[in-house]
Amino acid sequence: MAFIELNHVFKTYSNGVTALADVNLQINRGEFVFVIGESGSGKSTLNKLLYREEKVTKGNVMVGGVNVSKLKNSNVYKLRRKVGVVFQDFKLLPKLTVYENIAYPLETYGLDSAVIREKVMDAVERVGLKDKIRSYPNQLSGGEQQRVCIARAIVNRPKLIICDEPTGDLDPKMSREIMDVIEKINKELESTVIMSTHDKEIVNRMKKRVICIHNGVVVSDTEKGKYLEYEDN
Ligand code: ADP
Repeated sequence: MAFIELNHVFKTYSNGVTALADVNLQINRGEFVFVIGESGSGKSTLNKLLYREEKVTKGNVMVGGVNVSKLKNSNVYKLRRKVGVVFQDFKLLPKLTVYENIAYPLETYGLDSAVIREKVMDAVERVGLKDKIRSYPNQLSGGEQQRVCIARAIVNRPKLIICDEPTGDLDPKMSREIMDVIEKINKELESTVIMSTHDKEIVNRMKKRVICIHNGVVVSDTEKGKYLEYEDN
């Protein structure tokens, strides 16, 4: 069985909008996958199903052998500990330092402070921010803030990292730096990376698997793919 499997997945929101229709996907452990498609095509919905922010309407979503679609609400926290999520808008807590922002989720698990320190320092080193641990988010550039988010997402060494338009608010140079960090982590931690993006330059440069969604349907899935503009015809 692949690490991630979607079998005949449908998602219809309560307002009647069908965001995904009969999506079938298999993603192996350690893969790096881009998900592309215009705004409203269903990329975020796909991500949300993987970390159980949303539930499927029909079908199954399997992550690491766990049927996420059948997971009880009371067990969702176990999944969240194994999945790191990076968003376009950084969602950092402004009153906490870099160190505290990364440590915060671990503190809620009740881990020992020495263990937390070890994990946080390992994560900040991987993203190259060791010298900024005492800074506050507003003292950092956009690229640095996004690196803090990546550190926060990897602090538990998750098997799956979901990135939802992580470079959407960054200039091309910072975007490249962020991509280099994520690619390095994909290799070092052997985490599976699923990244939705609109960034044509990045997709074309990285030569990874590219899944294209259009109106909630997977319209292409290519190894070492390019950014393609899908058009109805
Ligand atoms: P993308 O990430 O590709 O922009 P989304 O997954 O956010 O696409 O959205 C897919 C479709 O689902 C869109 O038509 C969007 O308006 C709709 N949608 C997304 N979230 C919700 C929601 N919470 N309630 C109702 N409709 C939603």
